[in-house]
Amino acid sequence: MDKYDIHDNSEDEFSYSLRPETLDEFIGQDTAKEQLRLHIEAVKSRREANGKEGAKSRDNVLEHVLLVSPPGLGKTTLAKIIANEFGTNFKQAIGPVMERLDLASTLTNLEEGDILFIDEIHRMRAQIQESLYPVLEDFVLDLPIGQGPGSDVVQVPIDPFTLVGATTREGLLTGPFRDRLGIHIHLDYYTPEDIQQAIRINSAKLNIKTEEEAEYALALRARGTMRIANKLLARVRDYAQVRSGGILSLEVALEALEFFGIDEKGLNAQDYAYFKALIDTFSGRAGLRSLAVALSEDERTISEVFEPYYIKQGFLMLTPSGRVATEAAYKYFGYPTGNQPSLFDI
Ligand code: ADP
Repeated sequence: MDKYDIHDNSEDEFSYSLRPETLDEFIGQDTAKEQLRLHIEAVKSRREANGKEGAKSRDNVLEHVLLVSPPGLGKTTLAKIIANEFGTNFKQAIGPVMERLDLASTLTNLEEGDILFIDEIHRMRAQIQESLYPVLEDFVLDLPIGQGPGSDVVQVPIDPFTLVGATTREGLLTGPFRDRLGIHIHLDYYTPEDIQQAIRINSAKLNIKTEEEAEYALALRARGTMRIANKLLARVRDYAQVRSGGILSLEVALEALEFFGIDEKGLNAQDYAYFKALIDTFSGRAGLRSLAVALSEDERTISEVFEPYYIKQGFLMLTPSGRVATEAAYKYFGYPTGNQPSLFDI
């Protein structure tokens, strides 16, 4: 069992307490922030101009939003920030487990301007997606009453709200659904400098004395991901507490990272196992299913959580004939080069 599960997406209390609450506190992602700021300001000024007269008008609420990024980059955080910026309620649902009745009760309880955040929206059932079309467009919900020949549909008005959908896989959303989410925002992996800034701010919040070099060392190993940066900080803080009286010097940070089995690119035993399977077992080229079986891991976790970072690092290519380990991967993981599959041999 791995000592430190870097791929665990669950939100712990630690991470929760470190969430930025305003756009100004949200580090990096300048393009995304500017885009959101503009839309938020436009709505706020329309609200002021419309006043009470415009109440219940869809012009007074932000258009629906689609947030796209690999896990842990700040989609949920941004959705909460939008609600904070407007001072409205934040309601949360998870796409794949949404049922018709839950959806109906959530929607009918929304107040004007509320944010309904749906995570993993690409995994929402097609039937539920379709039932959302009239809601998103006209703020009416078609509610079927009864069954069989006597059945009917009543149209229930819904207060204008903003749906914020989050996805790691934009390509899996249907065109009509994507088109109904007017504002599309992409978040990219963070630079080490952005992550260092977050580590500095969070160390201060947590009263950890951290050397600048230690902050940067952690930032370089956070895989461009804020959630991982927070997790690293939590683990390393415990280590520093026990081994060095709570002071996080570079030396202590590096020792701790080694103790938790994290290398200089932020890769851990699971990642090494992935490349061992791909290169050793499958000679550098494999299908997702074979890798999932070899690693006893879920296909979706591999493709949505592990692999985007490998691709970003230049270790992996997705080709029509499978996943292919690059020469850089052979070198980094210590396998002799020269035997790797040719990218032209597809
Ligand atoms: P996602 O919804 O994309 O999986 P989250 O919004 O849950 O990611 O972010 C994970 C954690 O990372 C949050 O708890 C938050 O504390 C932190 N975080 C995310 N983005 C930022 C940011 N831009 N600045 C500071 N902290 C961030």
